[in-house]
Amino acid sequence: MIKITDVSSALQNKEISCRELTEKYLTEAEKVNRDINAYITLTPEEALRAASQVDSKIAGGEKLSPLAGVPFVLKDNVSTNGIKTTCASRMLENYEPVYDAHTWTALKNAGAVMIGKGNMDEFAMGSTCEHSYFGGAKNPRDLSRVPGGSSGGSAAAVAGGAAVFGIGSDTGGSIREPAAFCGIVGLKPTYGAVSRRGLIAFASSLDQIGPLAASSRDAALVLDAISEKDPMDMTSRGLPKVSDCLGGEVTGMKIGLAPEYFENIPDSIKKPVLAAAEKYREMGAELIDVSFPMLKYSLPTYYILACAEASSNLGRYDGIRYGHCAEDFTTLDEMICKTRTEGFGEEVRRRILLGTYVLSSGYFDAYYKSAERIRREIAADFARVFDKCDALLTPTVPMTAIKIGAGLSPIETYMTDICTVPVNIAGLPAVSTPCGFDEDGLSVGLQLIGRKFDEKTILTLSDAFERATEEKYIADTKMGVEKL
Ligand code: GLN
Repeated sequence: MIKITDVSSALQNKEISCRELTEKYLTEAEKVNRDINAYITLTPEEALRAASQVDSKIAGGEKLSPLAGVPFVLKDNVSTNGIKTTCASRMLENYEPVYDAHTWTALKNAGAVMIGKGNMDEFAMGSTCEHSYFGGAKNPRDLSRVPGGSSGGSAAAVAGGAAVFGIGSDTGGSIREPAAFCGIVGLKPTYGAVSRRGLIAFASSLDQIGPLAASSRDAALVLDAISEKDPMDMTSRGLPKVSDCLGGEVTGMKIGLAPEYFENIPDSIKKPVLAAAEKYREMGAELIDVSFPMLKYSLPTYYILACAEASSNLGRYDGIRYGHCAEDFTTLDEMICKTRTEGFGEEVRRRILLGTYVLSSGYFDAYYKSAERIRREIAADFARVFDKCDALLTPTVPMTAIKIGAGLSPIETYMTDICTVPVNIAGLPAVSTPCGFDEDGLSVGLQLIGRKFDEKTILTLSDAFERATEEKYIADTKMGVEKL
């Protein structure tokens, strides 16, 4: 796959102009999109504007920043002033934000070139990317399968050669799961490492923006560009640069393995993940047995907290302020009710109802308050793990990419998040990198979870694995732009 550094050196050495490169990606993105529906909107004007700026910098002999001229896909829940930001919902079908998200500003300042806005599950609720008002995205490794969700469009665009890197958001696994399904790298940063200003909120205490990329090194370069502290987001802390720290040895590092994470996991997933652990041992890391008894409470805790926060965050879509508004009504109540029924898809409506229920008087203590209490216990389990080791190694998803239209029930779909949600509940960083294939040749991802603000350790580990295995598990889909 084409990497960020490949693009930078081709541009610096004047092998290709940024305009030519951008046109190439725009053409391929349009072509590939007919198959994989990775983009909701292509943004050629914006891309060419950014490209010409990069070209003038090169002409002026300026040294380029690492992301300058690099084509990327931005998930369609990240606000772009004057450019449609739909959240894959009818509710925001024609919505154009009036301000830029912090991440989008940071990427513009870094000279990165946005090719378009990535498809996703509506309001980031889902694990398959099938819940998009604009039709689901497809997995470039196998077009009969989902790319994962909710950042499925961003992952599919990167794996399908229609962008060099992608930006996703991860509330319960939405960066790591599609990364695993599409055979690329996905990083969910520590809560607070990347500003959430301008990210359309799903569950504010869990949401984080992060990169999808062709390698851990690329993910680190993107993280460095977007992780500056933002004074306009109260929860933003920022993160020191990590890309310079990669490339080191893993000798002496302690990697935890918790049996709970391997219960009920099919062999086709367990084998490559445990083989990766063995690889780390060969490379000099120490494997440590730990336990994570709270894992079994993670899914209910997540779905109570996420739905509660969603029901509150999505209250703003009432047809009065912005977004879709029903046409045919007689009373205010009817207007709001019709607007929300028409504007939201089934899954979003289900979550709002669930969330409203768990917050309602009489149920608040039983559900929401208990979930908050268990949230602290889950964080305590992690704290005990990190007393003994530097990172916890788990599968990313208990399965590989499922067939489109497999018709999983909501509960079955929620189960796909079992390995990813604890990380969001505790606000930790985690990376998913490909570690093998199942019997159908579909990608399997391994997840490395780290201490808060210690992205450096998990990225050092995932980068070391990718180098030791010569990146042979990273997607090669023979699609889109294959050569610069
Ligand atoms: N699949 C999870 C959900 O549907 C996670 C979504 C996400 O991370 N945005 O809630």
